[in-house]
Amino acid sequence: MPISKSRESPFDTRNERGGDRLLQIEAVYDKVPVGLCYINRNGIFVTINDQLSRMLGIASDKAIGQPVEDILPDHAPLLRESLKAALAGATIPDQEVQRAEETFMVSGAPVTNDLDEFTGISVAYTNISNLKKIAQKLQEIEQRTSYALESAGQWIWDLNIATMRVWRSPQYRTLLGLDPNGGEKDSVAWDIVHPDDKAQAVQAFEDVVSGHKSHFEAVYRVQRGDGGDAWILSRGKIVEYGPDGSPLRLLATSVDISAQKLVEEQLSTTVQLRLELEQKLLEANRKLKNQSERDHLTNLPNRRKFSHLLKREFVRATDSGETLTVLMVDIDHFKAYNDFYGHLAGDKCLIQVGRALNKVIKQSDGSVARFGGEEFAALLSGVATDQASEIAVQMLDAISAMQLEHRDSPTGMISVSIGMAALNDASRATVKGPDDLLNLADSALYESKRNGRGRLSIWAATRADPHDVI
Ligand code: GH3
Ligand code: MG
Ligand code: MG
Repeated sequence: MPISKSRESPFDTRNERGGDRLLQIEAVYDKVPVGLCYINRNGIFVTINDQLSRMLGIASDKAIGQPVEDILPDHAPLLRESLKAALAGATIPDQEVQRAEETFMVSGAPVTNDLDEFTGISVAYTNISNLKKIAQKLQEIEQRTSYALESAGQWIWDLNIATMRVWRSPQYRTLLGLDPNGGEKDSVAWDIVHPDDKAQAVQAFEDVVSGHKSHFEAVYRVQRGDGGDAWILSRGKIVEYGPDGSPLRLLATSVDISAQKLVEEQLSTTVQLRLELEQKLLEANRKLKNQSERDHLTNLPNRRKFSHLLKREFVRATDSGETLTVLMVDIDHFKAYNDFYGHLAGDKCLIQVGRALNKVIKQSDGSVARFGGEEFAALLSGVATDQASEIAVQMLDAISAMQLEHRDSPTGMISVSIGMAALNDASRATVKGPDDLLNLADSALYESKRNGRGRLSIWAATRADPHDVI
Protein backbone atom coordinates (compact mmCIF):
# COMPACT_ATOMS: atom_id res chain seq x y z
CA MET A 1 0.00 0.00 0.00
CA PRO A 2 1.21 3.50 -0.64
CA ILE A 3 2.71 5.48 2.16
CA SER A 4 0.18 7.87 3.56
CA LYS A 5 1.55 11.37 3.54
CA SER A 6 0.71 14.31 5.64
CA ARG A 7 2.12 17.77 6.15
CA GLU A 8 4.42 16.29 8.74
CA SER A 9 5.56 13.39 6.60
CA PRO A 10 9.10 12.28 7.46
CA PHE A 11 9.79 11.99 3.80
CA ASP A 12 10.81 15.20 2.17
CA THR A 13 9.24 15.40 -1.27
CA ARG A 14 10.19 18.96 -1.94
CA ASN A 15 13.44 18.35 -3.72
CA GLU A 16 14.44 15.81 -6.28
CA ARG A 17 16.92 13.92 -4.13
CA GLY A 18 14.48 13.71 -1.25
CA GLY A 19 11.82 12.56 -3.68
CA ASP A 20 14.09 9.83 -4.99
CA ARG A 21 14.82 8.63 -1.50
CA LEU A 22 11.14 8.56 -0.71
CA LEU A 23 10.40 6.51 -3.78
CA GLN A 24 13.19 4.07 -2.97
CA ILE A 25 11.96 3.58 0.55
CA GLU A 26 8.35 3.43 -0.52
CA ALA A 27 9.16 0.58 -2.88
CA VAL A 28 10.21 -1.69 -0.03
CA TYR A 29 8.18 -0.16 2.79
CA ASP A 30 5.61 -2.93 2.72
CA LYS A 31 8.05 -5.69 1.91
CA VAL A 32 10.60 -5.48 4.72
CA PRO A 33 10.11 -8.11 7.45
CA VAL A 34 10.05 -5.36 10.05
CA GLY A 35 6.92 -3.59 11.22
CA LEU A 36 7.28 0.16 10.59
CA CYS A 37 5.20 3.17 11.43
CA TYR A 38 5.54 6.89 11.80
CA ILE A 39 3.86 8.64 14.68
CA ASN A 40 3.67 12.41 14.70
CA ARG A 41 4.52 14.64 17.62
CA ASN A 42 0.90 14.48 18.76
CA GLY A 43 0.94 10.69 18.97
CA ILE A 44 -1.13 10.18 15.84
CA PHE A 45 -0.32 7.32 13.45
CA VAL A 46 0.71 8.81 10.11
CA THR A 47 2.02 5.68 8.28
CA ILE A 48 1.85 1.96 9.03
CA ASN A 49 3.40 -0.68 6.77
CA ASP A 50 1.75 -4.00 5.92
CA GLN A 51 4.11 -5.95 8.13
CA LEU A 52 3.15 -3.95 11.21
CA SER A 53 -0.57 -4.30 10.39
CA ARG A 54 -0.11 -8.07 10.28
CA MET A 55 2.15 -8.22 13.30
CA LEU A 56 -0.15 -6.30 15.59
CA GLY A 57 -3.45 -7.19 13.91
CA ILE A 58 -4.45 -3.61 13.17
CA ALA A 59 -6.05 -2.28 10.01
CA SER A 60 -3.83 0.53 8.77
CA ASP A 61 -6.64 2.46 7.02
CA LYS A 62 -8.52 2.57 10.32
CA ALA A 63 -5.44 3.33 12.37
CA ILE A 64 -4.00 6.17 10.33
CA GLY A 65 -5.01 9.51 11.73
CA GLN A 66 -5.85 7.92 15.09
CA PRO A 67 -3.99 8.46 18.36
CA VAL A 68 -1.86 5.59 19.64
CA GLU A 69 -4.13 5.16 22.71
CA ASP A 70 -7.07 4.20 20.45
CA ILE A 71 -5.13 1.74 18.30
CA LEU A 72 -2.51 0.21 20.63
CA PRO A 73 -3.67 1.06 24.16
CA ASP A 74 -1.19 -1.34 25.78
CA HIS A 75 1.77 0.14 23.84
CA ALA A 76 0.61 3.71 24.11
CA PRO A 77 2.55 4.60 27.31
CA LEU A 78 5.73 3.33 25.73
CA LEU A 79 5.18 5.19 22.47
CA ARG A 80 4.32 8.37 24.36
CA GLU A 81 7.52 7.99 26.44
CA SER A 82 9.51 7.61 23.22
CA LEU A 83 7.92 10.76 21.79
CA LYS A 84 8.71 12.63 24.96
CA ALA A 85 12.33 11.46 24.95
CA ALA A 86 12.72 12.39 21.27
CA LEU A 87 11.17 15.80 21.85
CA ALA A 88 13.62 16.38 24.69
CA GLY A 89 16.48 15.46 22.35
CA ALA A 90 17.29 12.28 24.32
CA THR A 91 17.94 8.92 22.64
CA ILE A 92 14.99 6.56 22.56
CA PRO A 93 15.88 3.32 24.30
CA ASP A 94 15.00 -0.03 22.63
CA GLN A 95 12.22 -1.78 24.50
CA GLU A 96 10.64 -5.20 24.50
CA VAL A 97 6.83 -5.43 24.38
CA GLN A 98 4.43 -8.34 24.44
CA ARG A 99 1.37 -8.71 22.26
CA ALA A 100 -0.61 -11.92 22.45
CA GLU A 101 2.06 -14.67 22.47
CA GLU A 102 4.65 -12.66 20.61
CA THR A 103 7.53 -10.54 21.84
CA PHE A 104 8.62 -7.48 19.88
CA MET A 105 11.67 -5.29 20.03
CA VAL A 106 10.52 -1.69 19.59
CA SER A 107 13.12 0.80 18.35
CA GLY A 108 12.34 4.44 17.74
CA ALA A 109 14.17 7.30 16.05
CA PRO A 110 13.24 11.00 15.97
CA VAL A 111 12.25 12.59 12.65
CA THR A 112 12.80 16.26 11.78
CA ASN A 113 11.74 18.29 8.76
CA ASP A 114 13.92 20.47 6.54
CA LEU A 115 13.74 23.24 9.07
CA ASP A 116 15.15 20.87 11.66
CA GLU A 117 11.90 20.91 13.54
CA PHE A 118 10.92 17.76 15.39
CA THR A 119 7.95 16.20 13.62
CA GLY A 120 7.55 12.80 15.23
CA ILE A 121 9.13 9.39 15.59
CA SER A 122 9.75 6.53 13.21
CA VAL A 123 9.15 3.24 14.99
CA ALA A 124 10.31 -0.26 14.03
CA TYR A 125 8.77 -3.43 15.47
CA THR A 126 10.88 -6.59 15.16
CA ASN A 127 9.35 -9.90 16.14
CA ILE A 128 11.95 -11.46 18.42
CA SER A 129 9.78 -14.33 19.72
CA ASN A 130 11.89 -16.95 17.94
CA LEU A 131 15.12 -15.35 19.06
CA LYS A 132 13.79 -15.34 22.62
CA LYS A 133 12.93 -19.04 22.34
CA ILE A 134 16.36 -19.85 20.95
CA ALA A 135 18.00 -17.79 23.67
CA GLN A 136 15.90 -19.63 26.24
CA LYS A 137 16.88 -23.02 24.77
CA LEU A 138 20.52 -22.00 24.66
CA GLN A 139 20.35 -20.98 28.28
CA GLU A 140 18.85 -24.35 29.20
CA ILE A 141 21.58 -26.19 27.29
CA GLU A 142 24.18 -23.97 28.93
CA GLN A 143 22.74 -24.75 32.37
CA ARG A 144 22.65 -28.49 31.72
CA THR A 145 26.18 -28.50 30.30
CA SER A 146 27.42 -26.42 33.17
CA TYR A 147 25.81 -28.75 35.72
CA ALA A 148 27.12 -31.86 33.95
CA LEU A 149 30.64 -30.45 33.77
CA GLU A 150 30.67 -29.28 37.36
CA SER A 151 29.37 -32.55 38.76
CA ALA A 152 31.86 -34.48 36.64
CA GLY A 153 34.67 -32.18 37.79
CA GLN A 154 35.42 -31.22 34.21
CA TRP A 155 35.77 -28.17 32.04
CA ILE A 156 35.73 -27.60 28.32
CA TRP A 157 38.33 -25.78 26.32
CA ASP A 158 38.24 -24.71 22.74
CA LEU A 159 41.48 -24.04 20.90
CA ASN A 160 41.55 -21.85 17.82
CA ILE A 161 44.39 -23.49 15.90
CA ALA A 162 45.06 -20.44 13.67
CA THR A 163 45.54 -18.02 16.58
CA MET A 164 46.51 -20.66 19.18
CA ARG A 165 44.25 -18.97 21.68
CA VAL A 166 42.17 -21.05 24.07
CA TRP A 167 38.76 -20.38 25.54
CA ARG A 168 38.02 -22.28 28.74
CA SER A 169 34.61 -22.81 30.33
CA PRO A 170 34.18 -21.20 33.78
CA GLN A 171 34.48 -24.59 35.53
CA TYR A 172 38.23 -24.36 34.87
CA ARG A 173 38.40 -21.58 37.44
CA THR A 174 35.84 -22.90 39.93
CA LEU A 175 37.20 -26.46 39.93
CA LEU A 176 40.81 -25.39 40.41
CA GLY A 177 39.91 -22.81 43.03
CA LEU A 178 41.06 -19.89 40.86
CA ASP A 179 39.53 -16.42 41.12
CA PRO A 180 36.37 -16.71 38.93
CA ASN A 181 36.88 -13.16 37.69
CA GLY A 182 40.63 -13.37 37.24
CA GLY A 183 42.52 -13.94 34.02
CA GLU A 184 41.58 -13.14 30.46
CA LYS A 185 38.63 -14.69 28.67
CA ASP A 186 41.03 -16.61 26.48
CA SER A 187 44.75 -17.20 26.65
CA VAL A 188 47.63 -18.58 24.65
CA ALA A 189 47.58 -22.36 24.31
CA TRP A 190 49.60 -24.36 26.88
CA ASP A 191 50.37 -21.27 29.00
CA ILE A 192 48.73 -22.94 32.03
CA VAL A 193 50.68 -26.19 31.57
CA HIS A 194 53.58 -26.95 33.93
CA PRO A 195 56.90 -26.30 32.08
CA ASP A 196 58.03 -29.90 32.61
CA ASP A 197 54.87 -31.27 30.97
CA LYS A 198 54.55 -28.78 28.13
CA ALA A 199 56.57 -30.69 25.52
CA GLN A 200 54.44 -33.77 26.03
CA ALA A 201 51.15 -31.80 25.73
CA VAL A 202 52.39 -30.03 22.59
CA GLN A 203 53.41 -33.38 21.10
CA ALA A 204 49.90 -34.77 21.73
CA PHE A 205 48.47 -31.69 20.02
CA GLU A 206 50.79 -32.03 17.03
CA ASP A 207 49.87 -35.71 16.71
CA VAL A 208 46.20 -34.85 16.37
CA VAL A 209 46.76 -31.85 14.09
CA SER A 210 49.00 -33.86 11.76
CA GLY A 211 46.40 -36.64 11.71
CA HIS A 212 48.76 -39.18 13.32
CA LYS A 213 46.20 -39.63 16.05
CA SER A 214 42.45 -39.31 15.85
CA HIS A 215 42.14 -37.92 19.38
CA PHE A 216 44.07 -35.61 21.60
CA GLU A 217 45.01 -37.03 24.98
CA ALA A 218 47.51 -35.62 27.46
CA VAL A 219 48.20 -35.73 31.19
CA TYR A 220 49.90 -32.70 32.68
CA ARG A 221 50.04 -30.43 35.66
CA VAL A 222 48.43 -27.01 36.02
CA GLN A 223 48.52 -24.58 38.91
CA ARG A 224 45.66 -24.49 41.41
CA GLY A 225 44.42 -21.39 43.19
CA ASP A 226 46.33 -22.35 46.35
CA GLY A 227 49.61 -22.44 44.39
CA GLY A 228 49.86 -26.25 44.33
CA ASP A 229 49.76 -28.37 41.19
CA ALA A 230 46.78 -30.36 39.95
CA TRP A 231 47.18 -33.32 37.59
CA ILE A 232 44.91 -32.94 34.58
CA LEU A 233 43.76 -35.41 31.98
CA SER A 234 42.67 -33.72 28.75
CA ARG A 235 40.89 -35.46 25.90
CA GLY A 236 39.62 -33.87 22.73
CA LYS A 237 39.29 -33.92 18.98
CA ILE A 238 39.34 -31.63 15.98
CA VAL A 239 35.77 -30.34 15.52
CA GLU A 240 36.23 -27.97 12.60
CA TYR A 241 38.26 -28.12 9.40
CA GLY A 242 38.95 -25.45 6.79
CA PRO A 243 37.93 -25.83 3.12
CA ASP A 244 41.42 -27.22 2.41
CA GLY A 245 40.98 -29.83 5.13
CA SER A 246 43.30 -28.10 7.60
CA PRO A 247 42.20 -28.37 11.25
CA LEU A 248 40.73 -25.16 12.66
CA ARG A 249 39.45 -26.01 16.14
CA LEU A 250 40.31 -28.49 18.84
CA LEU A 251 37.56 -29.04 21.37
CA ALA A 252 38.53 -30.85 24.56
CA THR A 253 37.53 -31.60 28.11
CA SER A 254 39.85 -31.59 31.09
CA VAL A 255 39.43 -33.40 34.37
CA ASP A 256 41.38 -33.13 37.60
CA ILE A 257 42.92 -36.56 38.24
CA SER A 258 45.15 -35.49 41.16
CA ALA A 259 43.36 -37.82 43.57
CA GLN A 260 43.88 -40.85 41.30
CA LYS A 261 47.49 -39.79 40.71
CA LEU A 262 48.05 -39.60 44.45
CA VAL A 263 46.62 -43.08 44.96
CA GLU A 264 48.76 -44.34 42.06
CA GLU A 265 51.88 -42.76 43.53
CA GLN A 266 51.14 -44.06 47.01
CA LEU A 267 50.49 -47.49 45.58
CA SER A 268 53.71 -47.52 43.63
CA THR A 269 55.63 -46.23 46.67
CA THR A 270 54.05 -49.00 48.76
CA VAL A 271 54.86 -51.60 46.13
CA GLN A 272 58.40 -50.23 45.89
CA LEU A 273 58.79 -50.30 49.67
CA ARG A 274 57.43 -53.80 49.78
CA LEU A 275 59.86 -54.92 47.11
CA GLU A 276 62.75 -53.30 48.97
CA LEU A 277 61.66 -54.91 52.22
CA GLU A 278 61.33 -58.29 50.56
CA GLN A 279 64.78 -57.84 49.08
CA LYS A 280 66.20 -56.95 52.50
CA LEU A 281 64.41 -59.89 54.05
CA LEU A 282 65.80 -62.22 51.41
CA GLU A 283 69.27 -60.81 51.96
CA ALA A 284 68.92 -61.12 55.74
CA ASN A 285 67.69 -64.70 55.34
CA ARG A 286 70.54 -65.48 53.03
CA LYS A 287 73.05 -64.03 55.53
CA LEU A 288 71.41 -65.86 58.38
CA LYS A 289 71.43 -69.12 56.49
CA ASN A 290 75.04 -68.54 55.52
CA GLN A 291 75.94 -67.77 59.13
CA SER A 292 74.14 -70.82 60.38
CA GLU A 293 76.10 -72.93 57.93
CA ARG A 294 79.54 -71.39 58.40
CA ASP A 295 82.25 -71.82 60.97
CA HIS A 296 83.11 -68.40 62.39
CA LEU A 297 86.77 -69.06 62.92
CA THR A 298 87.82 -70.63 59.60
CA ASN A 299 84.88 -69.39 57.50
CA LEU A 300 84.55 -72.91 56.16
CA PRO A 301 81.17 -74.73 56.06
CA ASN A 302 80.36 -76.07 59.52
CA ARG A 303 79.39 -79.56 60.61
CA ARG A 304 75.69 -78.83 60.06
CA LYS A 305 76.29 -77.84 56.46
CA PHE A 306 78.61 -80.80 55.96
CA SER A 307 75.93 -83.19 57.24
CA HIS A 308 73.40 -81.76 54.75
CA LEU A 309 75.88 -82.02 51.93
CA LEU A 310 76.81 -85.56 52.87
CA LYS A 311 73.16 -86.64 53.02
CA ARG A 312 72.42 -85.08 49.64
CA GLU A 313 75.51 -86.53 47.97
CA PHE A 314 74.92 -89.94 49.53
CA VAL A 315 71.47 -90.11 47.91
CA ARG A 316 72.87 -88.93 44.63
CA ALA A 317 75.77 -91.40 44.68
CA THR A 318 73.39 -94.24 45.58
CA ASP A 319 71.13 -93.32 42.64
CA SER A 320 73.91 -92.73 40.14
CA GLY A 321 76.28 -95.45 41.27
CA GLU A 322 79.13 -92.95 41.46
CA THR A 323 81.80 -93.07 44.13
CA LEU A 324 81.46 -90.82 47.18
CA THR A 325 84.49 -90.33 49.42
CA VAL A 326 84.70 -88.89 52.92
CA LEU A 327 88.00 -87.73 54.42
CA MET A 328 88.33 -87.05 58.16
CA VAL A 329 91.32 -84.84 58.93
CA ASP A 330 92.62 -84.24 62.48
CA ILE A 331 95.54 -82.07 63.55
CA ASP A 332 98.15 -84.04 65.43
CA HIS A 333 99.09 -83.15 69.00
CA PHE A 334 97.01 -80.04 68.87
CA LYS A 335 96.36 -79.92 72.57
CA ALA A 336 100.09 -79.68 73.08
CA TYR A 337 100.25 -76.92 70.42
CA ASN A 338 97.67 -74.92 72.33
CA ASP A 339 99.47 -75.52 75.56
CA PHE A 340 102.81 -74.44 74.11
CA TYR A 341 101.83 -71.54 71.85
CA GLY A 342 98.56 -70.44 73.42
CA HIS A 343 94.97 -70.61 72.31
CA LEU A 344 95.18 -67.64 69.95
CA ALA A 345 98.09 -69.16 68.08
CA GLY A 346 96.06 -72.38 68.04
CA ASP A 347 93.18 -70.47 66.37
CA LYS A 348 95.56 -69.03 63.79
CA CYS A 349 96.91 -72.49 63.08
CA LEU A 350 93.36 -73.83 62.63
CA ILE A 351 92.65 -71.11 60.07
CA GLN A 352 95.85 -71.86 58.13
CA VAL A 353 95.23 -75.61 58.11
CA GLY A 354 91.63 -75.09 57.01
CA ARG A 355 92.73 -72.79 54.17
CA ALA A 356 95.38 -75.28 52.94
CA LEU A 357 92.92 -78.19 52.97
CA ASN A 358 90.29 -76.12 51.17
CA LYS A 359 92.76 -75.12 48.46
CA VAL A 360 93.57 -78.76 47.69
CA ILE A 361 89.97 -80.01 47.73
CA LYS A 362 88.63 -77.18 45.59
CA GLN A 363 90.85 -78.28 42.72
CA SER A 364 88.80 -81.48 42.59
CA ASP A 365 85.43 -79.79 43.05
CA GLY A 366 85.20 -81.25 46.52
CA SER A 367 84.40 -79.43 49.75
CA VAL A 368 85.92 -79.27 53.18
CA ALA A 369 84.20 -78.33 56.43
CA ARG A 370 85.29 -77.73 59.98
CA PHE A 371 83.81 -80.74 61.61
CA GLY A 372 84.58 -79.67 65.16
CA GLY A 373 87.58 -78.77 67.37
CA GLU A 374 90.71 -79.43 65.34
CA GLU A 375 88.95 -81.83 62.99
CA PHE A 376 88.01 -81.24 59.37
CA ALA A 377 85.87 -83.36 57.05
CA ALA A 378 86.10 -83.39 53.25
CA LEU A 379 83.75 -84.75 50.62
CA LEU A 380 84.60 -85.84 47.07
CA SER A 381 81.83 -86.82 44.65
CA GLY A 382 82.42 -88.86 41.50
CA VAL A 383 86.15 -89.26 42.20
CA ALA A 384 87.66 -92.75 41.91
CA THR A 385 89.20 -94.14 45.09
CA ASP A 386 92.75 -93.99 43.74
CA GLN A 387 92.36 -90.41 42.76
CA ALA A 388 90.73 -89.60 46.12
CA SER A 389 93.69 -91.09 47.97
CA GLU A 390 96.01 -88.95 45.86
CA ILE A 391 94.05 -85.88 46.87
CA ALA A 392 94.33 -86.93 50.53
CA VAL A 393 98.09 -87.27 50.13
CA GLN A 394 98.15 -83.80 48.55
CA MET A 395 96.47 -82.57 51.72
CA LEU A 396 99.16 -84.17 53.91
CA ASP A 397 101.80 -82.59 51.68
CA ALA A 398 100.13 -79.19 51.69
CA ILE A 399 100.18 -79.15 55.52
CA SER A 400 103.85 -80.18 55.76
CA ALA A 401 104.72 -77.67 53.03
CA MET A 402 103.44 -74.89 55.30
CA GLN A 403 106.25 -75.74 57.77
CA LEU A 404 104.28 -74.63 60.79
CA GLU A 405 106.53 -75.06 63.77
CA HIS A 406 105.27 -77.36 66.58
CA ARG A 407 108.05 -77.82 69.10
CA ASP A 408 106.00 -80.13 71.25
CA SER A 409 105.44 -82.63 68.46
CA PRO A 410 107.84 -85.48 67.62
CA THR A 411 108.29 -84.11 64.07
CA GLY A 412 108.65 -80.49 65.20
CA MET A 413 106.07 -79.45 62.62
CA ILE A 414 102.31 -79.30 62.38
CA SER A 415 100.93 -82.40 60.70
CA VAL A 416 97.53 -83.95 60.19
CA SER A 417 96.23 -87.49 60.19
CA ILE A 418 93.62 -88.51 57.62
CA GLY A 419 91.06 -91.30 57.53
CA MET A 420 89.30 -92.08 54.25
CA ALA A 421 86.20 -94.15 53.46
CA ALA A 422 84.36 -94.43 50.16
CA LEU A 423 80.95 -95.49 49.01
CA ASN A 424 81.62 -97.43 45.83
CA ASP A 425 80.62 -100.69 44.16
CA ALA A 426 82.73 -102.69 46.63
CA SER A 427 81.32 -101.01 49.75
CA ARG A 428 77.73 -100.39 48.74
CA ALA A 429 76.50 -103.52 50.56
CA THR A 430 78.24 -102.53 53.82
CA VAL A 431 77.72 -98.80 53.85
CA LYS A 432 73.99 -98.25 54.48
CA GLY A 433 73.92 -94.54 55.18
CA PRO A 434 75.96 -91.34 55.47
CA ASP A 435 76.68 -91.93 59.16
CA ASP A 436 78.24 -95.30 58.28
CA LEU A 437 80.54 -93.57 55.86
CA LEU A 438 81.52 -91.00 58.50
CA ASN A 439 82.16 -93.63 61.15
CA LEU A 440 84.27 -95.69 58.76
CA ALA A 441 86.35 -92.62 57.83
CA ASP A 442 86.69 -91.87 61.53
CA SER A 443 87.89 -95.38 62.29
CA ALA A 444 90.41 -95.05 59.45
CA LEU A 445 91.56 -91.76 61.04
CA TYR A 446 92.00 -93.57 64.34
CA GLU A 447 94.10 -96.06 62.46
CA SER A 448 96.35 -93.24 61.19
CA LYS A 449 96.76 -91.95 64.74
CA ARG A 450 97.55 -95.41 65.99
CA ASN A 451 100.13 -95.92 63.29
CA GLY A 452 102.13 -92.79 64.14
CA ARG A 453 100.11 -89.84 62.81
CA GLY A 454 100.90 -87.64 59.80
CA ARG A 455 99.49 -90.24 57.44
CA LEU A 456 96.44 -91.44 55.52
CA SER A 457 94.46 -94.63 56.26
CA ILE A 458 91.88 -95.93 53.84
CA TRP A 459 89.03 -98.10 54.88
CA ALA A 460 88.53 -100.95 52.42
CA ALA A 461 85.46 -103.15 52.48
CA THR A 462 87.00 -106.20 50.86
CA ARG A 463 90.20 -106.65 52.81
CA ALA A 464 90.79 -108.77 55.85
CA ASP A 465 92.51 -105.80 57.47
CA PRO A 466 90.09 -103.08 56.59
CA HIS A 467 92.62 -100.28 56.85
CA ASP A 468 95.18 -99.52 54.28
CA VAL A 469 97.63 -97.08 55.74
CA ILE A 470 99.66 -94.78 53.53
P1 GH3 B 1 95.89 -86.13 68.55
O1 GH3 B 1 97.12 -86.05 67.82
O2 GH3 B 1 95.64 -87.47 69.14
O3 GH3 B 1 94.70 -85.66 67.79
O4 GH3 B 1 96.07 -85.19 69.82
P2 GH3 B 1 95.38 -83.83 70.03
O5 GH3 B 1 96.07 -83.11 71.12
O6 GH3 B 1 95.32 -83.06 68.76
O7 GH3 B 1 93.92 -84.21 70.44
P3 GH3 B 1 93.00 -83.80 71.60
O8 GH3 B 1 91.67 -84.28 71.28
O9 GH3 B 1 93.64 -84.36 72.88
O10 GH3 B 1 93.07 -82.28 71.70
C1 GH3 B 1 92.43 -81.47 70.81
C2 GH3 B 1 92.69 -80.06 71.14
O11 GH3 B 1 92.20 -79.17 70.20
C3 GH3 B 1 92.08 -79.70 72.48
C4 GH3 B 1 91.59 -78.27 72.26
O12 GH3 B 1 92.18 -77.36 73.13
C5 GH3 B 1 91.99 -77.95 70.85
N1 GH3 B 1 90.94 -77.18 70.22
C6 GH3 B 1 89.71 -77.57 69.83
N2 GH3 B 1 89.06 -76.54 69.27
C7 GH3 B 1 89.87 -75.47 69.31
C8 GH3 B 1 89.75 -74.12 68.87
O13 GH3 B 1 88.75 -73.68 68.36
N3 GH3 B 1 90.81 -73.30 69.06
C9 GH3 B 1 91.98 -73.75 69.61
N4 GH3 B 1 92.97 -72.89 69.77
N5 GH3 B 1 92.10 -75.00 70.05
C10 GH3 B 1 91.09 -75.87 69.91
MG1 MG C 1 90.65 -84.56 67.57
MG1 MG D 1 94.17 -83.99 67.21
